[in-house]
Amino acid sequence: MATNQKPPVLVTSDQPEEERRFEHKPTEGLAPGTVHYLPDRERYLAWVRFNVSGVATTHELSRIETPILDKVATLTRAFGEDSPLVNDLLYKISSRGGEAVALRPDVRPGIARAFAMNEFSGKDKPIRLWHRGPVFRNVALKAGVQRQFEVFGFELLGELNPVLDAQVIQMAWKVIKNLGLEKMVINVNSVGCLDCRPEYLKQLKDHYENRQNALCKECRKYRNTNPLKLLACEEEKCVRHAKEAPQIIDNLCEACHKHFSEVLEFLDDLEIPYSLNPQLVHDIDYYTRTVFAILGESGERSTALFTGGRYDDLVEKIGGRPTSAVGVTGGIDRLVMAMQEQSIKPPIIRRADVYLAQLSAMAKKKALKVFEMLRDEGIHVIEGFGKNAITLQMEQAVKLGVPVTLILGQKEALEDTIILRDMVNGVQEIVPLSKMITEVKKKTDHVRQPFKVAAPLPVEGAATTGSHRMGKMSNRNNGRDKK
Ligand SMILES: [Zn+2]
Ligand SMILES: [Zn+2]
Repeated sequence: MATNQKPPVLVTSDQPEEERRFEHKPTEGLAPGTVHYLPDRERYLAWVRFNVSGVATTHELSRIETPILDKVATLTRAFGEDSPLVNDLLYKISSRGGEAVALRPDVRPGIARAFAMNEFSGKDKPIRLWHRGPVFRNVALKAGVQRQFEVFGFELLGELNPVLDAQVIQMAWKVIKNLGLEKMVINVNSVGCLDCRPEYLKQLKDHYENRQNALCKECRKYRNTNPLKLLACEEEKCVRHAKEAPQIIDNLCEACHKHFSEVLEFLDDLEIPYSLNPQLVHDIDYYTRTVFAILGESGERSTALFTGGRYDDLVEKIGGRPTSAVGVTGGIDRLVMAMQEQSIKPPIIRRADVYLAQLSAMAKKKALKVFEMLRDEGIHVIEGFGKNAITLQMEQAVKLGVPVTLILGQKEALEDTIILRDMVNGVQEIVPLSKMITEVKKKTDHVRQPFKVAAPLPVEGAATTGSHRMGKMSNRNNGRDKK
């Protein structure tokens, strides 16, 4: 339907269908790159969020929430003047008082700032944090790409120990396993430190010097200012030149080499499968040493569901003391997409364990007592006191998906018994009230969905563990090409 200048027409539900003409298309009200999370999708999101907070809790992380608005100056310090994130992808907002602010494109500058400002002094290091919330990037629109998306992260600040790098990878891997996702691959690499990276970047610039005409526009733009970005370019013509580029792994200083070697050993010890990928760099400049990504297949190409690594210089860049840190960020929308692609459905999270139905005035009085008995035991019960017809009450019980319905009629009320209906197999039995709680618990406990933490399993397509020691690292055929 073509749009015109008329104001939107208010539509009420009692208008006949043919009169419900939307003069104003509702899709025109949605900002580009944003979506509604409708109840169907919300079920998936809720399940992912539940698993994320479960993993965070089992690893004793505390939740931190940072503002959605960041100062542009802070972001520039965090990402660097030449960062595409700052130059091209920020949603800048004018604010009263003139301070330039932007919707956060990443949560970590906020985390680093919170650390720099508070230092969590007196607390045991590392400081163990997790976060969840929206980020915004003003990216080019294409199918499946959102400009607002929800991320979460696990962050460990204040220690350089390589075991922490392995631990954050393990946390992300647990989320993958708990959601039941398959065919996921962990890629790891090291991007060095301020000591060894400058020499490597020089080599990289030299490598691209004679090839600039063969590169895409974006790569030509960042060839001198951000050459690491060229290694991550997905344009076909750039991929070849990236493969032929010198590898940072051959240029690590002794400390970086040792650190990376120990990270890999810890991953082996934790039996987490990984592949070395010397081309792996992130499009964010603040990473140091270990970088990693968990990739899943999505159609023809692989998508990163998690990215992470060390950011040992970030707190200092923001104005704090030098602070080692490592973390991982996961995309909730991408995890949901991967679940849907693999036909994994979230379990239906029940609102109640028991529905309590009653059949007469006398039974209703007694039902109030039974209701309290169940509640006192912590059993989540929903009652149908407002309805008299048993059919209506049973319909409601089915709709709620409860595993057990208790039915109290006049006869049962007189005899101190109650009818217990197993909603899974439809079998009914009469139980004495004194045994009701025990019977209900038996029936509801086994269908309750406990939070399961699965053990890490080897993943198809990933390199087997135990094979990547530093001795082989400098051999460039040992990484991604090895498979
Ligand atoms: Zn180094
Ligand atoms: Zn390119």
